[in-house]
Amino acid sequence: MNAVTYTARDYKSDVKPVWCPGCGHFSVLSSITKAFADLNLVPHQTAVVSGIGCSSRIPAYTNCYGFHSIHGRGLAIAAGLKLARPDLTVLAAGGDGDGLSIGGNHFLHNCRRNVDMTYVMMDNRVYGMTKGQPSPTTESDWDASAMAPPGGTGLSPFNPLAIALSAGANFVARGFAGDPNGTAAIIAEAIRHPGFSFVAVMSPCVTYRDEQREWKNVMRPNPAPATSDASEAARRLLVDDGYNLGVLYQGDRQAYKPKSLPDVAIADFDKEFAL
Ligand code: SF4
Ligand code: MG
Repeated sequence: MNAVTYTARDYKSDVKPVWCPGCGHFSVLSSITKAFADLNLVPHQTAVVSGIGCSSRIPAYTNCYGFHSIHGRGLAIAAGLKLARPDLTVLAAGGDGDGLSIGGNHFLHNCRRNVDMTYVMMDNRVYGMTKGQPSPTTESDWDASAMAPPGGTGLSPFNPLAIALSAGANFVARGFAGDPNGTAAIIAEAIRHPGFSFVAVMSPCVTYRDEQREWKNVMRPNPAPATSDASEAARRLLVDDGYNLGVLYQGDRQAYKPKSLPDVAIADFDKEFAL
């Protein structure tokens, strides 16, 4: 039990976010820090790791340990950190482009590996930071950007929840930036749940996908409570239109643990990397 009680403010750094005014990521940052506060996590025993993209700037905006890493590799680094330091709470964060395109392989294998950490994917169905290219979750006919082919890509978008479930994630949920308290509750539950927890948060990109402001009118709670039956969760995803919010699936797979940890100390690394 911590002697100190933390508030959401305690997890926010003094670095001012550079996101566009109205971007959904402001709200997701607040949901993450609220979830940390609700769990009363010790900031220096909590790590936020990201890839590259607008949403991946999140580690700099928190007071926890953090690593703004390289494109698509946030999950690999987060998993390595959790395995080396199982005492830490590790949260990985990033976007749909980062996590499903160049990082798609890491996403698959982290679901499969089931290391005890949480992955928050902020999905705005576009590459925001690189100015509006279609991402793996973009609708096939979307062409409202100079960076999209006329008529759209013609490619079916991924449903990230379906990929997570089929690849073995132990907790699968969807939140919405327009519902910060609901999203904070989902993230807290995801952190508490053992194994690899995946939370897709629909987070509007108001600069390249202004129409996503309308998401607030179509989002709704999941029609049924969370299930621990993967087949049932898969059936629900077959009719999922992307706007159902809440926890879909809570599995009971045991989190991955290495058979042994390497017997090294920080001092050994110091010696090895000494110039
Ligand atoms: Fe947010 Fe889009 Fe601006 Fe990036 S480009 S900060 S995702 S609104
Ligand atoms: Mg994106």
